[in-house]
Amino acid sequence: MDSMSILPASSGVAAPISPEPSGSSCRQGPILGNVRTGIFGGTFDPIHIAHLHAGETALFQADLDRVLFMPAGDPWQKDDRVLTPAWRRLEMAQLATMGVDGFEVDEREVRRDGPTYTIDTLHSFPDDEDLFVIMGADAASGFRTWHRWEDIVDRSTILVMPRPGTDPRSVGEAVPGALLLDMAPLDVSATAIRKMAGSGEPYRFLVHAAVYEYIEANHLYAQTRSGDRVGASYDQEESP
Ligand code: ATP
Repeated sequence: MDSMSILPASSGVAAPISPEPSGSSCRQGPILGNVRTGIFGGTFDPIHIAHLHAGETALFQADLDRVLFMPAGDPWQKDDRVLTPAWRRLEMAQLATMGVDGFEVDEREVRRDGPTYTIDTLHSFPDDEDLFVIMGADAASGFRTWHRWEDIVDRSTILVMPRPGTDPRSVGEAVPGALLLDMAPLDVSATAIRKMAGSGEPYRFLVHAAVYEYIEANHLYAQTRSGDRVGASYDQEESP
């Protein structure tokens, strides 16, 4: 196991990736040196507080200039369910990140046709940009199934968010050189939020206030008890 490259959040030693976090929420571009960009891909259906907290933690601990929230495109299914249309997931990401220094929403995976591979995304950045791929421990434990995973490791540094249900130590075996963000594991998932929204349970404070308003106003997750949306007409909804 590649235990030396993981920084355990709970070990009490050297937890932050960056030894000297700036201590300021105001991020500025580098005066000298390469731009340091975090790439945070996901379905974001919806974007929730664990995504946002992890993004900010990555910004500070890895001393990034920016974190790009990159919603996945439309033409694929996750766990056999149809995703909310990309333009809506994009709008929720924009609402959640608006006005936050260092946070940006990036549309390149939404705009790309066909399967989106992380390695292709990485190659779409300039060679002199330092790239950091941000992912949850659950995603990281399956990293070796990713298309050209060795090339991803060569081109970027992987930042892993701890996630309840996945032993962070298992990530060390799967992702060479991964760094574990020092943050409290948050037991929040988009699946649970969709179910709560669909069944009328409270979920308001698990998402950004503007995202909550958006979900409610557009009845995004009015659905079955299983959490999977029933409305085929909704799934075919077009962007305005
Ligand atoms: P779903 O429940 O629909 O599968 P999700 O909550 O896992 O969604 P995604 O948009 O699929 O959210 O996640 C994007 C990335 O964020 C993935 O790498 C995932 O592992 C990570 N992630 C999501 N929620 C958490 C969390 N609570 N803690 C740590 N990582 C998380």
